[in-house]
Amino acid sequence: MENEKWKGCIPQPIRNDGAGWWDLGPRDVMRDLENPDMLVSPVTDAGTLPNLKFSFSDTYMQLNHGGWSREVTVRQLPVATTIAGVNMALTPGGVRELHWHQQAEWAIVLVGRARITSVDQNGRNFIADVGVGDLWYFPPGIPHSIQGLEEGCEFLLVFPDGNFSDLNTLSISDWFAHTPKDVLSTNFGIPTSAFTHIPKQQRYIFQANVPGSLESQQVADPHGTVPKTFTHRLLAQEPIVTPGGTVRIVDSTNFPISTQIAASLLEIKPGAMREMHWHPNNDEWQYYISGTARMTVMAPNGTARTFDYRAGDVGYVPRAFGHYIQNTGNQSVWALELFKSDRFEDISLNQWMALTPNQLVQQNLNAGPELMNSLQKEKQFIVKNMGFSYYPRTDR
Ligand code: MN
Ligand code: MN
Repeated sequence: MENEKWKGCIPQPIRNDGAGWWDLGPRDVMRDLENPDMLVSPVTDAGTLPNLKFSFSDTYMQLNHGGWSREVTVRQLPVATTIAGVNMALTPGGVRELHWHQQAEWAIVLVGRARITSVDQNGRNFIADVGVGDLWYFPPGIPHSIQGLEEGCEFLLVFPDGNFSDLNTLSISDWFAHTPKDVLSTNFGIPTSAFTHIPKQQRYIFQANVPGSLESQQVADPHGTVPKTFTHRLLAQEPIVTPGGTVRIVDSTNFPISTQIAASLLEIKPGAMREMHWHPNNDEWQYYISGTARMTVMAPNGTARTFDYRAGDVGYVPRAFGHYIQNTGNQSVWALELFKSDRFEDISLNQWMALTPNQLVQQNLNAGPELMNSLQKEKQFIVKNMGFSYYPRTDR
């Protein structure tokens, strides 16, 4: 067959059991190569599930002098009603202008360093520098700004509202632009001529000078600083070391200001797997930082779907749906699990079984002694590589 010579080069929707056939028609081979588990689904996948993947690479880039932003919200990923994410970069000196919004803001720095500023409802300020692996959190309605330092920066912003858009916030320039000059004059007690050069519209992101040292930029505050810090050094946090990687959990128990976002930072080593689990408290919004992975999600009534993820992708898991994440590549997968919650909570399948009457579990699953003796009373989080190769899979 003429097509045989292409076998192994171009993936075909043919499973190892022979199901499927050549795709000889219109197709996007690059997309198929990125989604091997969609092209050739595992035999255990079944039924319909909403789309649980969206890549920041498929979103609109808002380009500005001073940086860029793009977002994955309920408009891109309709199932994601609980959380919206914004990926933003700022040049050295680039500023995300002074602004605020109804939603809380949680962030992690991905590249470089930034300076953040904020003032709370009691006039207490917070001015700090953050680097890779550091978090910040601004409570709802609290005004703030972000500025790239010498090397510029990139970060992920997370908002506990799928409808959020960073292009739809309250900004200082907008308020000035949309306020009569006599009102500004009265508000500040100075002549209207002082407002001749104010921006005519929202600045959003703009290029400014790289600020001086943190010390040189501090503003003496008669009311003191915020009582709960707005930053947390997540990567510097001591991880839970597991058989297949590491986990760093951050929520209001160790980052007290963060009452609306809980997170875990996962490191899944090659071949290892985030164990079969679910979350009782809310949906999960994921961000993949590096590596390649696939996640299978089990929904009620025997429904399951598998999605492939790589750096810059967003994943989603509805509340309580069972799932696991496998590292399909040869480097560690780093990913975030994020929740609109004050607490990180998960249920481990293995731990549940281990702490349930033995005979009940044994009879429910027709389980032999090998399975029953393997059960772990402590959560494993990330289980080790058992030596399976992922492509091609043995079940294809
Ligand atoms: Mn903001
Ligand atoms: Mn999870």
